[in-house]
Amino acid sequence: MIRVGVIGYGTIGSRVADAVRLQPDMDLVGVAKARPDYRARLAASEGVRLFAPPGEDNSWEGSGIEVAGTTEDLIGESDVIVDATPSGRGRLNRPYYERGGRPAVFQGGEEPSIGEVSFVAQVNYDAAVGKRYVRVVSCNTTGLARLVWALEREFGVEMVIANLVRRAADPHEFKKGPIDATVLDPVSVPSHHAADLREVIPGLRVFTSAVKVPVTHAHVHMMGLRLASEVGKEDVIDVLLRERRITLVSSRHGFSSTSDVFRIGRMLGRGRGDVYENVVWADSISSDGRWIFLAQAIHQEAIVIPENIDAIRAVAGLTSGSDSMNLTDSTLNIRRGFLY
Ligand code: NAD
Repeated sequence: MIRVGVIGYGTIGSRVADAVRLQPDMDLVGVAKARPDYRARLAASEGVRLFAPPGEDNSWEGSGIEVAGTTEDLIGESDVIVDATPSGRGRLNRPYYERGGRPAVFQGGEEPSIGEVSFVAQVNYDAAVGKRYVRVVSCNTTGLARLVWALEREFGVEMVIANLVRRAADPHEFKKGPIDATVLDPVSVPSHHAADLREVIPGLRVFTSAVKVPVTHAHVHMMGLRLASEVGKEDVIDVLLRERRITLVSSRHGFSSTSDVFRIGRMLGRGRGDVYENVVWADSISSDGRWIFLAQAIHQEAIVIPENIDAIRAVAGLTSGSDSMNLTDSTLNIRRGFLY
């Protein structure tokens, strides 16, 4: 059993903790949480052990929530740490993991240099095996990498142009905007996503732009890919149907917006209503010579969760990539092929 400690219990950390508890080869030691708020109380009521960062504040005292120890205690009891604290905080936390001699999985809000590998399981699981520090890349980069890699393996990809329509905030972030604007983020292109994607697929010729829109669920990627040879729409669909963690949907069946993406996880009865797969509109796929065009949606809160689970196994060095991904996909009920 791999004993896992999760530091940071927000959007990503809470989901990683849930997913760890579903793995037959992992034990959730506990989570380090900054404050004793209602989420701490709910976690405790679900049997999750809570650890408090030392010296931040004394709000845990007298909160009525049982605290199992400090973050350092959690690190000491764990084989692998998942750091899911806000962007940039992982850099400050890493010395604690080094001191405790524990490997750690970081998130995409950190600089690539925080880890030895920028990780997407389907692309580079083997490169992360036995490494001390691995960075699971951001939601957008994960979604782009899965899709590009599937087509690169089969056909060869010469160039990618990806326009990203990004959700402005996660559902609980009520103080963030915009509420009535489309924001070019950034104005001057390429956006940082291109460089980040090259951290996963080195040498890829890719150009990205991004806008932020007033929604809280799902990014949409509208992409053009120039392949090494002429390929028809059906050939692309055939490859994507076989690729794990990618699912296809069709507007013919009423699937026409990110609101429909949001429904998938709820209708399948998944924890937190999560959608772990890239959701590609089959009827958005078209070809023109060597160019392929398509649109996909990415549930930003969920897509990196399977990657975190696989990254834990990779740094623990216990299994092969395909065994790990098979186990992750079956425990999280991840689909491939046509969903609707
Ligand atoms: P979040 O703000 O929802 O959660 C972070 C949590 O960590 C907060 O609850 C905060 O109180 C807590 N925290 C801060 N310092 C702490 C400490 N020292 N010890 C314990 N807890 C501490 O953030 P998030 O959205 O989950 O993002 C976490 C990371 O995941 C970031 O790197 C982000 O870029 C990345 N990421 C986020 C998303 C997303 O859509 N939210 C998607 C992919 C990747």
